Amino acid sequence: MNILFAASEVAPFAKTGGLADVAGSLPSALASLGHDVRVVLPRYRQVDPAQFNLKHRATFHLPISTWYERCDILEGSTADGITVYFVNKDSYYDRPGIYGTSRGDYPDNAERFAFFSRSLLELCRVMDFSPDIIHCNDWQTGLVPLYLKTQYAAQAPLDRTKTVFTVHNLGYQGRFPPETMHRLGLGPEALSPEGMEFGGAFSFLTAGLAYADVITTVSKRYSEEIQRSEYACGLEGILAQRAGSLFGILNGIDSRAWDPANDGAISRHYSAVEPAGKEACKDALQKLAGFSADSGPLIGMVTRLSEQKGLELLVDAVPAIMKLGVRLIILGTGEKKYHRILTDLHSRYPEQIQVMFRFDESTARAIYAGSDLFLMPSRYEPCGLSQIIALRYGAVPIVRKTGGLADTVIDYDRQAGKGTGFVFDEYSSGALVVAVKRALAIKSDQSRWKSLLLQCMTKDFSWEHSAREYDRLYHDVVTPSQNDRREASMAGKDKGGERKAS
Ligand code: ADP
Repeated sequence: MNILFAASEVAPFAKTGGLADVAGSLPSALASLGHDVRVVLPRYRQVDPAQFNLKHRATFHLPISTWYERCDILEGSTADGITVYFVNKDSYYDRPGIYGTSRGDYPDNAERFAFFSRSLLELCRVMDFSPDIIHCNDWQTGLVPLYLKTQYAAQAPLDRTKTVFTVHNLGYQGRFPPETMHRLGLGPEALSPEGMEFGGAFSFLTAGLAYADVITTVSKRYSEEIQRSEYACGLEGILAQRAGSLFGILNGIDSRAWDPANDGAISRHYSAVEPAGKEACKDALQKLAGFSADSGPLIGMVTRLSEQKGLELLVDAVPAIMKLGVRLIILGTGEKKYHRILTDLHSRYPEQIQVMFRFDESTARAIYAGSDLFLMPSRYEPCGLSQIIALRYGAVPIVRKTGGLADTVIDYDRQAGKGTGFVFDEYSSGALVVAVKRALAIKSDQSRWKSLLLQCMTKDFSWEHSAREYDRLYHDVVTPSQNDRREASMAGKDKGGERKAS
């Protein structure tokens, strides 16, 4: 099958979160099942053509409303040899950030990602690449199914193409005022009744949900949660309409890229069978954080600083958690409000709390490797990759029971000695403190802790299983159902009749 995988961020080229990890690793897993998979993303300033050996591949002029704009396509590849196309348009993508700067989102994000969505369809036409599936991800590619169905589906090479739309986070919708539509060359069909639910606001995400052949989200539990108004972010109408085409497939990780036995960024290598190196990683992390060398428990967090990640809970729980004698190290970027709050916590507990406001893969890896425990008290979490990486690095997760956190972390059962972390249900700082206490009680029991670490580190979250689920889904999408086949054969009979009559 030919698959075009479209995402606004793809590791290692451009990353702000888990979407990039998925887009950087799932395509290889799909290719190993025999598919011709190609990836497409914008060529941001940070993607250096010389470093990634990018070659010019095509130039075309893209229709935008009543005018055309030039678009260049560069081609490169991943370490696994997957072809990657980069949409090159300096006026849109040659900027310091991917979506915006610390002052906020770029005001022309609608134009930027509409251009990206349309250019990848045009790219197929110009290069005569006929995808069976275009796999779209999040709002930045939400217009692809809409453009495809309304403007491209009538002609080769896109006349048989189906779309899968994966929602990595329903909270980010790409909502713009309706007048934006005209600038993007969209007609009134783009404003579905659900889009109108927001007082006429137009959402790229809704377009994807309405027009894709199939919708997926990144864990089974989140696919169920978003059908309840509590988690639906206002989209319950369209989600109910599309419930029959909505599936949950759990994310995996690239287990070669995230491997403490072979990670160039950490102080000492270690593995489930030879865990000794983790102590050296903890020493190094304590140094990095400016903490005294100590054998006391160290809790790590690597996170976007947003309300979704449960930072309010943490802030309320800090005084109680600090009394337990733990140290906390947080790496994150995001909302200014949390920068202020966390800076304040650090000044109240300088010996116990360290915060680092930057996006830095090496420091993230040092935290996964050096922490005893990894905290994710999210209010909601579509899948979450950080806790999966933490499991692999033997940083035992403490998580709230929601979305992918609930699907990936098994609450430790003291009696049975079984589990891979500490899970709490109620969204309250009290429940979080109880979970931390439970974790510390097990941490102080060496043999239980050793067995817990082994269970965490040997859990398999490679893509193998989930890639097969996508493979089955793709086949179902491109294989017409019995009903469709019956209708097609009836239509064929009718046509035959007409021909005879003429
Ligand atoms: P989300 O996509 O909601 O941000 P995930 O847990 O799915 O959360 O994925 C987060 C990814 O981004 C992980 O690979 C994590 O290590 C990485 N990450 C998050 N914040 C930082 C940061 N400040 N520096 C480096 N990596 C980060």
